[in-house]
Amino acid sequence: MFEKVLIANRGEIALRVQRACREMGIKTVVVHSEADREAKYVKLADESVCIGPASVRESYLHVPAIISAAEVTDAQAIHPGYGFLSENADFAERVETSGFVFIGPRAETIRLMGDKVSAKDAMKAAGVPCVPGSDGELSEDMQETTRVAKSIGYPVIIKAAGGGGGRGMRVVHTEAALLNAVAMTRAEAQAAFGNPTVYMEKYLENPRHIEIQVLVDQYGNAVFLGERDCSMQRRHQKVIEEAPAPLIQPRLLSRIGERCADACRRIGYRGAGTFEFLYENGKFFFIEMNTRVQVEHPVTEAITGIDIVQAQIRIAAGEKLWFKQRDIQFRGHAIECRINAEDPYTFVPFPGKITVYHPPGGPGIRVDSHIYQGYTVPSHYDSMIAKVIAYGDTRDQAIRRMRIALSEMGVEGIKTNIPLHQELMQDARYMKGGTSIHYLEQRLSDRGEVQQ
Ligand code: ADP
Repeated sequence: MFEKVLIANRGEIALRVQRACREMGIKTVVVHSEADREAKYVKLADESVCIGPASVRESYLHVPAIISAAEVTDAQAIHPGYGFLSENADFAERVETSGFVFIGPRAETIRLMGDKVSAKDAMKAAGVPCVPGSDGELSEDMQETTRVAKSIGYPVIIKAAGGGGGRGMRVVHTEAALLNAVAMTRAEAQAAFGNPTVYMEKYLENPRHIEIQVLVDQYGNAVFLGERDCSMQRRHQKVIEEAPAPLIQPRLLSRIGERCADACRRIGYRGAGTFEFLYENGKFFFIEMNTRVQVEHPVTEAITGIDIVQAQIRIAAGEKLWFKQRDIQFRGHAIECRINAEDPYTFVPFPGKITVYHPPGGPGIRVDSHIYQGYTVPSHYDSMIAKVIAYGDTRDQAIRRMRIALSEMGVEGIKTNIPLHQELMQDARYMKGGTSIHYLEQRLSDRGEVQQ
């Protein structure tokens, strides 16, 4: 096992990885920007290295500074967390050629799955069902693009091959709007991701977002840890996640889980990963794979008892998977609310100093957060400040516990989206389960009309 791991991330996930390491007796090095100097997890780490100013380009995305930090501290492995460099194949390669272990898949796998067009091709070849769409990337030929859209049938969605974080997508309802939408998505994709490649998919009108968590060791042993339902989204960004997914037959879920585990063996995957699907009318359609730990991993940990971050580290250190698919038991239900520093009605980010903080607690409640009373939420980064996870024997119990947790949680000095979560935990449709990816946006626009 490693003696020292460098954590190339910030915020709650930096703390989460640090806790996993400490439990395993591994020393930690945290790299941080000037804006995160005062963060508590920075002080709790065995060592910390300031790698640059607040700007992410000059700190959390600055590869040479991170590699040098690993060199000067004698770390053996680098955990990238999520976001930032976690799905950057060049970074993974640089880590390994510099003599460190990258806690994640091989660079070539990240490259293959990081391009959504090649990822879909690989999944099709592995027998994983995909959203109907263009055969690979869209060519510059306008007639051909029009023909493809017609054969798929409107509405279609134009997506950037290099897209992520819910950006680089455009829905098209009519042929008249098609070519302009393709051109605009291409231009945006070039500007945002440095890659103008786009592709087309059928736009599913009422799907749910269901994803499968996998763990794969370096010897081809692959298991799936069940699914998560992440359909509660705003602007293609997840707001609430849960496991298991309500109202889907377990037989269908284990079948798609097996397919994912199989696909991992085929592509030589290693580490933790997530296959994202849209689910509509009893069918799953692959959209993309995330080759890293996800924000919502705690709900899977809650129902399986498996520590996903520790598993990532053990796999990276060369351990053989220590359990088989049949050993994995799913128990109870877990829900995660992402708490953001933002206005709960306008969603405008609201960084600033937290003057009062009361974290919730009690049976079945887990809070993953780096904040504390007196902490200043910096304006330079993502607005997520905490994740509240409620676990219960049943979905109903998890919801009731979440309501209590949200009512106990006090954050003053900044605005948060806690009131939105409180509303959703009382929402009749949410309580039934199985709402689609459009539900939250529709509900928010209804709310807007009521208020006007
Ligand atoms: P990103 O990498 O930016 O997260 P994804 O491909 O995972 O992009 O898609 C994010 C979200 O966008 C999905 O969860 C879903 O809400 C929506 N979406 C993506 N593809 C489609 C599609 N073909 N039809 C309907 N919605 C889609």
